[in-house]
Amino acid sequence: MCGIAGYIGERNSPEVLFDMLERLEYRGYDSAGVMFIAGRKINIIKDKGKVSEVRSRVKPERYKSDIGVAHTRWATHGVPSKVNAHPHADCKNLFAVSHNGIIENYVSLRRELTLKGHKFQSDTDTEVISHLMEENYKGDLLTAFRESLDVLEGSYALAVLCVKEPNRILIARKESPLIVGLGKQENFIASDAPAFMPYTKEIIILNDFEYGFVEKDRVEVFDLVSGKKLKKQKSKITWDVKEAEKAGYHHFMLKEIMEEPDAVSNALKASGELKKIASRLKGKKRVYFVACGTAYHAGLTGKYLLENFGIQSEAVVASEFRYSTVDTVDKDCGIVLISQSGETADTIAAGKRAREKGAYVAGIVNVVGSTIARLVEDVAYTYSGPEIAVASTKAYIGQLVSLTQLALYLSLSSRKISVKEFERLQKELKGVSGKIKAVLSDGKIREIAEECAVKKTFFYIGRTLNYPTALEGALKLKEISYLHAEGYPAGELKHGPLAILEEDVVVIAIKTGRHLEDKMDSNIQETKARNARTLIVAEDGEIKVPRVDVLLTPLVNIVPLHLFAYYISVLKGLDPDKPRNLAKSVTVE
Ligand code: GLU
Repeated sequence: MCGIAGYIGERNSPEVLFDMLERLEYRGYDSAGVMFIAGRKINIIKDKGKVSEVRSRVKPERYKSDIGVAHTRWATHGVPSKVNAHPHADCKNLFAVSHNGIIENYVSLRRELTLKGHKFQSDTDTEVISHLMEENYKGDLLTAFRESLDVLEGSYALAVLCVKEPNRILIARKESPLIVGLGKQENFIASDAPAFMPYTKEIIILNDFEYGFVEKDRVEVFDLVSGKKLKKQKSKITWDVKEAEKAGYHHFMLKEIMEEPDAVSNALKASGELKKIASRLKGKKRVYFVACGTAYHAGLTGKYLLENFGIQSEAVVASEFRYSTVDTVDKDCGIVLISQSGETADTIAAGKRAREKGAYVAGIVNVVGSTIARLVEDVAYTYSGPEIAVASTKAYIGQLVSLTQLALYLSLSSRKISVKEFERLQKELKGVSGKIKAVLSDGKIREIAEECAVKKTFFYIGRTLNYPTALEGALKLKEISYLHAEGYPAGELKHGPLAILEEDVVVIAIKTGRHLEDKMDSNIQETKARNARTLIVAEDGEIKVPRVDVLLTPLVNIVPLHLFAYYISVLKGLDPDKPRNLAKSVTVE
């Protein structure tokens, strides 16, 4: 996820664009750049770092220009660096391209363009678009744009300018957001409305498969398939700037929970990388998932997934692994590090020690170019986009999807699963996004949270694949509500916790589909008999979740628990985005 921006009008474009980028920075912040036309030339200001850092280095007020495009990046292809920062130019510096999304066929396009003599500067997928424009431009900008879009596979929101036609910015959208802000003798382009809200609240929203151009007093939009001109409706934004940075949500955490359906489809984009990791893990005597906090719970789910297919594996918290388990590791072991930020100190240290011992080390990481991504032999990104709330939600979903994919590839190549079963599960996995959407639209969870917000102790119980879900549900509540919450394997209740159950205690029992249903039912009876308020997460439970294959239940069962923790935190008057004493990325031991 990145933020893209464009401006055309009488103000000084580099200054306006840096202002816009600052308001889009929540969408990405590893590098920033502005390209504008001045003196009939394209001028480029871009670098690694936050928008404010890049801005202070270049002082945009020194320039004079009435048209430009800009970008704040959350890298997917190529590490965060000056050369990989957007916008990207072509060989002749005629075009500037700001892109949000992933061009899936960039490798073959790059090869073809290289054969035609194009010289690439960056490692990004985006740069192929600048060279395609250069290749296709024969004097008609819009035709060249359409021809270029026609060959792109993947997702994009684009703002493109050409030095030969310095009165318009090209725009296009497919699966990444893009909005035009309408001013008087000036127009704005952005991924999200807060970028231009101090200037205008009148907008045109682009839909998928639409493209066109923006001039200072004109906007034209066409259908990409038919080429026909479209009549676009104008609309008015009603939120204030602060609210809108969270896209209308009160908190980033809620916004990120609502992005969980996208986290599924985004993580599925890494199937090539996961296949490669699976091929390297094949035949290892043991697979270890090593991580901290929420990512450890994802790893523990990974262990149960592999065990389900008869593959031996362990999940170990990184701070324990680095000082003990690592001593048992050798070249016949495969280690998968899991981390949202890719900067978790204990996980980095565990990975380094495992490499010293000769083990194969791979990573499942969200932040591109992060330390773990560079430390491992192979990395699969979850592509969840920036996660700003301290308590991880959508990134956990991304990690679970990646681990499920990894388990499926490893089982297939190890002949633990038939091709038919593999394909059936892959298909179901793709459909989980829609199932999560259904959970998110259920208003009941808020009512349940209202009833439970006064309680002091919470037990989350589950078995096998949903034991980690219980741990993660409890962790979320602890993190943002400061309540006493514990996750337990359901079968362990009678070995201690039953002693403290009474009316004032809430027990959340997470059922794993039809698997071990009768065992869970017995545990539920035990808690009810002690008068605990017992909530059941199941297809027919008080907290309802849709039917999915047993292996995919962790993906849907955690979703209402995210909402439950969020609502309790808000009801207690706390800020769920910034829990006390906690930091997003734990870079210390
Ligand atoms: N794929 C582009 C890059 O890595 C854009 C990233 C995005 O929009 O997330 O630079």
